[in-house]
Amino acid sequence: MSKAKDVKKVKVTVDHHLEEGVLRKVTVDADIEGKNEKGKIDFAALRSGGFIKQRQKDKFTVRLKCPGGRMSIDKLKVAAQAAEKYGDKFVHFSVRQSLEIPTVDYRNFDGIMQMLETVEQGIASCGPRVRVPTACGGCEYNPNGITDTQRMAQESTDRFFGARTNHKFKISWSGCPHDCIKTAGADLGFQGGVYPVWDEPKCTGCTICASACQEDAIHAHPETGKPIFDAEQCIYCDDCVRACPTLAWQEGKKGHIVRIGGKAGRHPLLATIVAQFVSDEEAHTIIDTTIKWYQNAGKGKGRTRLGVILREEGMMDSYMKTLEEAIGPEKLVSNPPVPQKIVIHPQRNPL
Ligand code: SF4
Ligand code: SF4
Ligand code: SF4
Repeated sequence: MSKAKDVKKVKVTVDHHLEEGVLRKVTVDADIEGKNEKGKIDFAALRSGGFIKQRQKDKFTVRLKCPGGRMSIDKLKVAAQAAEKYGDKFVHFSVRQSLEIPTVDYRNFDGIMQMLETVEQGIASCGPRVRVPTACGGCEYNPNGITDTQRMAQESTDRFFGARTNHKFKISWSGCPHDCIKTAGADLGFQGGVYPVWDEPKCTGCTICASACQEDAIHAHPETGKPIFDAEQCIYCDDCVRACPTLAWQEGKKGHIVRIGGKAGRHPLLATIVAQFVSDEEAHTIIDTTIKWYQNAGKGKGRTRLGVILREEGMMDSYMKTLEEAIGPEKLVSNPPVPQKIVIHPQRNPL
């Protein structure tokens, strides 16, 4: 039998729709030895479609699409069955909330895809594109939650997942300033916040709010007990509003605090705040605007993260100008600093 006849063709759907505007089919030849030869196996295309080559010969990790780290029970059951049948009888939760099925032989791509499709479970992406957004539980059930992070993660997945960018592009949603999902380390992060307003006639001077505020933003007046508010210290957590028994503290401006240009990796960057209290729809406009700005500013720069580009001369000003055209000046921070380096490897040749 000739070698060509031994080659088994497997069709794998790369399900991020924004790749040249069409659904791509990737053909995988069975005749592989871990090589990336044209016409045999296209690891880059597979990786971008969520099939990630492992160090073991012929084995891949299949990364499932889980916006905000959420998966319905019916999907979870099928994912478990798929891992049992095609994987190594375990799943792995990635650091960005994707459920992964490791150790799947490429010969079983068809089978595992068909199984997952019965519950419409999609595959995540990898490579230079918008990844599946992450999110904490948010206001749906978390007592601290201010914004509906789960809904926003799903909506931003529906709108932007898979869009091509220079490098990976990570969006995160935190429901409050605890920032559990680490929006300060995302390319584009949204964190819920509330600016408290005080209605003096309702205040009894009980001092509860001064005790509730952990940021030294409220001090009790030594004689009246009424709050003295230091706006500079306020991080918009909403604790004073929740604590006040007379509703003297109430929610003023409320929405997403927007951070841009963060990243993890060997040389992390701390995202910088560019806008405050934006609405849900403005948040989507910001994502759209930022992706387009990044695609344009990154031309000819290869695999360069957004934060690295923003650190270049004049780029932060260019970005802020574009953002102002998109959502107006009212909610923008004036002259934000560029994303800052975080040194996690201080040693150079420590030996
Ligand atoms: S960021 Fe806030 S809302 Fe989200 S999980 Fe943490 S404490 Fe809860
Ligand atoms: S908790 Fe409310 S009532 Fe008590 S001091 Fe603060 S604002 Fe006034
Ligand atoms: S919102 Fe939070 S940080 Fe700001 S004053 Fe109230 S309790 Fe303090």
